[in-house]
Amino acid sequence: MSISKNIDEILNSIPESVKLIAVSKTKPKEDIVEAYEGGYKIFGENKPQELKQKFEALPKDIEWHFIGHLQTNKVKYIAEFVHLIHAVDSLKLLTEINKQALKHNRIINCLLQFHIAKEESKFGYALNEAQDMLNSEEFRNLEGINIVGVMGMATFTDDQDQVRSEFKQLKTNFDVLKTEFFKEKADFKEISMGMSGDYQLAIEEGSTMVRVGSSIFGTR
Ligand SMILES: *Cc1c(COP(=O)(O)O)cnc(C)c1O
Repeated sequence: MSISKNIDEILNSIPESVKLIAVSKTKPKEDIVEAYEGGYKIFGENKPQELKQKFEALPKDIEWHFIGHLQTNKVKYIAEFVHLIHAVDSLKLLTEINKQALKHNRIINCLLQFHIAKEESKFGYALNEAQDMLNSEEFRNLEGINIVGVMGMATFTDDQDQVRSEFKQLKTNFDVLKTEFFKEKADFKEISMGMSGDYQLAIEEGSTMVRVGSSIFGTR
């Protein structure tokens, strides 16, 4: 199977309203070019320097998503061009994204990452922490960032009920924030959840963006 065929198959199996992020992390530029030449232009990466290198080498109409944990001191590598940062999990990070965005005369779209998995090592907010952050004066003063939704990663398990209940939790958190903070804000509408193993389940539970890597580019 070719990369482009894999992408087309996935696109054909998901609603048009759901955005597919083709996760190209660790894969060579040639793989991205193959997808691009097949007509696909939305890619996700999780290492800032790797993303910057790929951005510089590849066509400029690619929409780049940063999907992994982002360290504050590395925001500078991607601030100039990144389309969406999926996994914001602290005010400190958001403050730095704001600073770098203003430096480049941009407003950077961000998702708030929630901790929905059982594993302790995963990053992300609890609902009350996100509410506190959104209520803070520091947050309200940030003019270079735009919060457009939420993101989460389910537990790595074969237990579908477990995964489903975690996706439901993320959807609930989204609904709470929408009601409490973003009611009038039409572009707060994204729920980034679902990867190769669970994107159909995620879509059933309300995902608007799926981040799919190995089902497109092969195992890493
Ligand atoms: C690697 C990664 C993905 C894609 O995972 P696959 O299982 O290869 O589809 C999705 N989201 C994040 C945050 C990732 O780091």
